[in-house]
Amino acid sequence: MELLKNCPVCGSVEFVPFLSGKDYFLSGETFEIVKCCKCGFRFTNPRPEANDLGKYYESTEYISHSDSRQGLFAMVYQQVRKYTLGRKRAMIETFQQKGEILDIGCATGQFLHYMSGKGWKTTGIEPDEKTRQKAITEYGLRVFPEEQLNVFNKSSFDVISMWHVLEHVSDLRGRMAQLKELIKPKGTLIIAVPNCDAYDARKYGKFWAGYDLPRHLYHFTKSDVKLLAENFGFEVVKILPMRFDAFYVSLLSEKYQKGKMRWLPAFWTGFLSNVKSGQKSGHSSLIYVLRLK
Ligand SMILES: [Zn+2]
Repeated sequence: MELLKNCPVCGSVEFVPFLSGKDYFLSGETFEIVKCCKCGFRFTNPRPEANDLGKYYESTEYISHSDSRQGLFAMVYQQVRKYTLGRKRAMIETFQQKGEILDIGCATGQFLHYMSGKGWKTTGIEPDEKTRQKAITEYGLRVFPEEQLNVFNKSSFDVISMWHVLEHVSDLRGRMAQLKELIKPKGTLIIAVPNCDAYDARKYGKFWAGYDLPRHLYHFTKSDVKLLAENFGFEVVKILPMRFDAFYVSLLSEKYQKGKMRWLPAFWTGFLSNVKSGQKSGHSSLIYVLRLK
């Protein structure tokens, strides 16, 4: 296990325990989340060593990385994903005309394939080799392993997107520095992460699927992302909701808490989460649009 001595956002050395939760998805092991005394950032600490994290992803059920269509849940998930492709593109195009997009953590490449069909020049990063090969052979995409981030030319991309990826990245500060190097001066950085301030997060507590321990190393709120952005020369120009995530995360949380996916309570919680989100705490998952200052 790796013990972080500094807060990844502000560098402070003082933390207090916040929550002790299980890996309900795969290993059943217990992990701790601590809260920074200075900036309030919550992160998994200690956490598995970077080269040990892979084993926590070894499951055919990790559906966000595969296209399997088994069961009602997976079926609905795939349909929603199809719908959200169009929404993501429309959102991006309100900030940036066509150009070159880099999607980090592109998985099997559905999003990039879609964007490519709409006239975008696309590049992907996917650390998992099997998944990467699938994106290359199935869609003919340009997809590289993570190390390629150090190879790209400076100021290469009009848009860089990370859809539910930043919370998985071992070297958070190193990654932010890379993003700053790779984005064009007027480029748009899109970061989507779960929001542990949301209504559903508070309702489910340690059973909240958005914690996804130990795969999620960081547990962001709006103020955390704003501070992190500022520390690396970015500013958050817009925060947008991902409304479907409240339902998806509530369903998984029901499973973790009650042992099965209870659709009705999950739907109700998801609905309440979206209604109660307001401007302050925010939705279950948020999209942050960042620009260089
Ligand atoms: Zn801090």
